[in-house]
Formats: sequence, C-alpha cells, structure tokens
Amino acid sequence: MHRYFKKNFLIILIAPSGGGKSTIGKRILDSNDDVEYSVSFTTRKPRGQEIHGKSYFFVTEDEFKKKADEDDFLEYAFVHGHWYGTSRSQIEKRINDGKHILLDIDVHGAKQIIGSGIDAVTIFILPPTIDILRKRLVNRGTDSEDTINLRLKNAYKEVSEVDNFQYLVINDNLDTAVSTVENIIRVEENRVKRFDKILETFYGGEIE
Ligand code: ADP
Ligand code: 5GP
Repeated sequence: MHRYFKKNFLIILIAPSGGGKSTIGKRILDSNDDVEYSVSFTTRKPRGQEIHGKSYFFVTEDEFKKKADEDDFLEYAFVHGHWYGTSRSQIEKRINDGKHILLDIDVHGAKQIIGSGIDAVTIFILPPTIDILRKRLVNRGTDSEDTINLRLKNAYKEVSEVDNFQYLVINDNLDTAVSTVENIIRVEENRVKRFDKILETFYGGEIE
C-alpha cells in the first residue's frame, strides 16, 4: 500500500456530566489502536478504582501550580471544586509518534484549546433529553441527589455553549453514537490540510 503522510490531531469529547463521554471514549480507545487517551493532571483525590497515571495524575495544589507556572499546561480549568489540566509535553510527544489523542475535558478547557490554534476536532455528546440525562446520572449511582441536581443545573450552561464546537452527536443508542464518533474521526483524517507531501508521494520522490 502506498503510504501518504498524515498529520494527527486532538479529538475533544465535550458533554454535560453524565452525557456519556467516558463510556463513548472508552469504546473508541478499545477499538482504535491509533487513538490514545490524554491523562490529565488533577488536584482532586482518586475515586474508587482510579489508578495514578492511568485515570489521572493526582497531584497536590502546589505541584499543579508549579506545572502551570512552568507553562506545561495546554489548558487548565477549575471544575467542580478542583483543578484539572492537560500536559502540553505529553500531548506533543504522542502526536508526533503518530497517534490521535482523545481528551475528556470540560467546556472551558475545550475553548482554551480551540483558541490556542492547535489542530483539534471537537465533538459535543448530548443525551436526547434532560430527563434521560437525569435517569442516566441516577442509574450510574456515583453521585448523591444534591450532586446530581448541581450537575443538571450546570448542564444548562454547558449545552448553551454547543455552538463553539464542530460536531454534535446525540447519544441515544450507544452503538450508534460510538460509530458516529468513529466516522467523524475517519472523515477528519481525509481533510486535505492533514496530508503532507502529497505531490512527492504521488510522484514517488522530490518535486523540483
Ligand atoms: P460522562 O463521562 O459524560 O459523565 P458516562 O460515560 O459516565 O458520562 O455516562 C453516564 C451514565 O450513562 C453511565 O452509567 C453510562 O453507562 C450511561 N450511558 C452512557 N451512554 C448511554 C446510552 N447511550 N444509553 C444508555 N446509557 C448510557
Ligand atoms: P471527574 O472529576 O468527574 O473525572 O471530571 C470532572 C470534569 O473535569 C469533567 O467534566 C472532565 O471532563 C473535566 N476534566 C478532566 N480532565 C480535565 C482537564 O485536563 N482539563 C479540563 N479543563 N477539564 C478536565
């Protein structure tokens, strides 16, 4: 097969809490070898089975601040009472290793990345209705009623921001939503701007 050079990109899944971004993201990572997860830094404490270096890098506020001062965050934000940030050095290395990088970050972080001019594909994930979102948060069983109510209240602000992003995937049937996200990734790979050295590859050498 003739190999054309393609530039990799960030894939940002954005959703109100309970929208389905972890579930969809995990399915995408499990079945696409060329997509890797961006492990964020956070000052919140580990929950349940979370492993340092896999779910997050769990750090103290001082460590987080030091990284921010050293400009090692591509973006960072204060979400639900804790700091979260995406490490610039980690992302750059893996993009150059030929991987797309999947980010699970909040709306503010996603807007910072869009503003920075980095090549990113932004996909907003939305359950069909607010009632279905509530049911999914209740069924997930990870949050108290007060937390669920707060998350549902925050959802209004987040969904109001949807126009900032490129794609909207309605997360009704899970399989359909996952394959829609996969299709978006494959279509985005074929944008002309993501190819490098098209003429050289076509003619099999340097072009005068
Ligand atoms: P987020 O990461 O956006 O907070 P999750 O991926 O944790 O959301 O999804 C919230 C809950 O909804 C989980 O319990 C998940 O299993 C469930 N869920 C996600 N997508 C669907 C779907 N399409 N149909 C039914 N349940 C879903
Ligand atoms: P949780 O604590 O439930 O894992 O995540 C809470 C929120 O923080 C989610 O909306 C998640 O997308 C967001 N988040 C996780 N990592 C980052 C990050 O690196 N940057 C930003 N801006 N948000 C993040």
